[in-house]
Amino acid sequence: MQPILKINLTTGTTEEFVIPKEWEHDFLGGASLAARILYPYLTKELDPLSPESPLLFMTGPLTGTSGPTTGRFVICGKSPATNLWAESNIGGFWGPELRKVGYDGLWITGKAQSQSYLWIEEGRLEVRSAANVWGKDIYEAQEIVREEVGVKVARVAVIGEAGERGVLFSSIACDHGRMAGRTGLGAVMGSKNLKAVAVYGKKKIEVANLERYSALRSEANITLKQDNEAKIIHETGTAGVANYAGYLGSMPSKYYHQGEFEGVDNISGSKMAESILVGFSACQGCVIACGRVVNLGGGESRKRKGPEYETIVGFGPSLLISDLAEVVRLGEMCDMYGMDSISTANTIGLAFYLYEMGKVTKQDTGGLELTWGNFMVVRQLIDMIAHREGIGELLSRGSRQFGAAFGAEDEAVQVNGLEVAFHDPRGVSGMALSYATSPRGACHNQSDYFFVDFGHTNEKLGIEYFDRHAQAEKSANVVKHQDWRTFFNSAVMCIFANVDPQMQVDLVNAACGYEWTLDDMMKSGERAWNLKRAINNRLGLTAANDKLPKAFLEPYKEGGAAGFVPDLPEMLKAYYEVRGWDHDSGKPSKEKLVELGLENVVQDLWG
Ligand code: SF4
Repeated sequence: MQPILKINLTTGTTEEFVIPKEWEHDFLGGASLAARILYPYLTKELDPLSPESPLLFMTGPLTGTSGPTTGRFVICGKSPATNLWAESNIGGFWGPELRKVGYDGLWITGKAQSQSYLWIEEGRLEVRSAANVWGKDIYEAQEIVREEVGVKVARVAVIGEAGERGVLFSSIACDHGRMAGRTGLGAVMGSKNLKAVAVYGKKKIEVANLERYSALRSEANITLKQDNEAKIIHETGTAGVANYAGYLGSMPSKYYHQGEFEGVDNISGSKMAESILVGFSACQGCVIACGRVVNLGGGESRKRKGPEYETIVGFGPSLLISDLAEVVRLGEMCDMYGMDSISTANTIGLAFYLYEMGKVTKQDTGGLELTWGNFMVVRQLIDMIAHREGIGELLSRGSRQFGAAFGAEDEAVQVNGLEVAFHDPRGVSGMALSYATSPRGACHNQSDYFFVDFGHTNEKLGIEYFDRHAQAEKSANVVKHQDWRTFFNSAVMCIFANVDPQMQVDLVNAACGYEWTLDDMMKSGERAWNLKRAINNRLGLTAANDKLPKAFLEPYKEGGAAGFVPDLPEMLKAYYEVRGWDHDSGKPSKEKLVELGLENVVQDLWG
């Protein structure tokens, strides 16, 4: 692997960090390797918004190659929203460009004296004044930085106003609205006075066995082009599943308190395709191209990013808005301010819900009436959050803190401080475990198990189908799925890359010169999952943190999930058994850590 460039913004010094060979082999890359690198530094005492807090931009061994969906990279650190492990995966073209500069990662600490951005070319790094870009939205900032450095094709990772002001669910963006949205790492970047990181390089990205790799990636890309799921995602975007999720009752409405949504046909991916869709966008080299380009026409005629499933459900059904154009506008506002649309919509949803309950009043909102479906108020709230004004200041801290401020923390639909994505475990029970045990709070990407509950199995890995309302009997299956997805996060491949797992291993072997088997691949995923768990245990997480919000323990009265609630304690019992975790403390057992080669962690966790 290429080295990681360490940059201390306080001292202005840099050094190259060479990744030990055994770490490379055991953790592969991406978020898994980042966890190994950051393990000693993520302490309980570390303030995520302090200069000491590390921000690690990592690529994977396939990033920037012509392999399937390998344009992605991941950003890791300690989350200011959860105070736990943070990772956020992002597409576009920035990751490949960094590798072309000659680095596989950037490890940023310290705080610049004034508002700055970084300009990194091969053999050159400049800390430049961000005076002209501070306060600009994520699109304009990218343009200005490109102009200032004089390289039109430079790639720029950037924060918006939300990250500058410390909104706890700020994102880091690049290219055409690609977002590292979750866990608030945009606020970490802002706390370092760092607006953007621009990169441009020309180095060739090497793979160990080019001939073998080339043959495999062609085969993989052909497979992907023919894959039904990939075709659906291309044609209708990720929101293509909205109708089916609505039918199953796994698409929450009215902030997780209504099991069906009449207007689903108005906001679905197919509706977008037949009304406002004018094009597609893709991350580097991706043959799927899930990104939407839309045009609302009329007085707003221009091309803009179209929303994906989470944004559509968050600003649509969850707030009882069934106007697709308005959902597009609300999603775009979040993007431009650099805010995670899942957490933004969710926290606003909680505010609406508490307003209906009478716990939040007009006095609290400065006179705003938080009535369901009122998108004009949602627009105002997004502005207020980004500027941390009025009730926006409380909302900018996320739903757990917002709920707590009104004596209603248990009404917040979050796990460990991260707002739940819009896949309701009452409709697809596997998501109960996915949310409760994810290393970064309620995350749907560490294991998008809803696809398995929809029927997407993987026989080679032993990931089988269980009824979507099955309970503890599917726990072992969820474990396998999590380990597999953790491998994706180390290779930094997109979870929509539906290629045969053996082909994935073959690609890694050809790129890295390894001789991994499928078992090795799954073991690497398991190792990293347990390491992230150990990081969180050291940060104070225990078995008591593996829980679901109150809303998921109350059955819907209507829709495809009516009457069902997941039995989380039973699911967790079986899950802990399979994981080899201690039931009382929630820590991986000594035996499990040793089995995974994590001897260095044993002493820290068990003394
Ligand atoms: S499927 Fe979408 S998110 Fe995934 S790599 Fe392709 S364009 Fe990017």
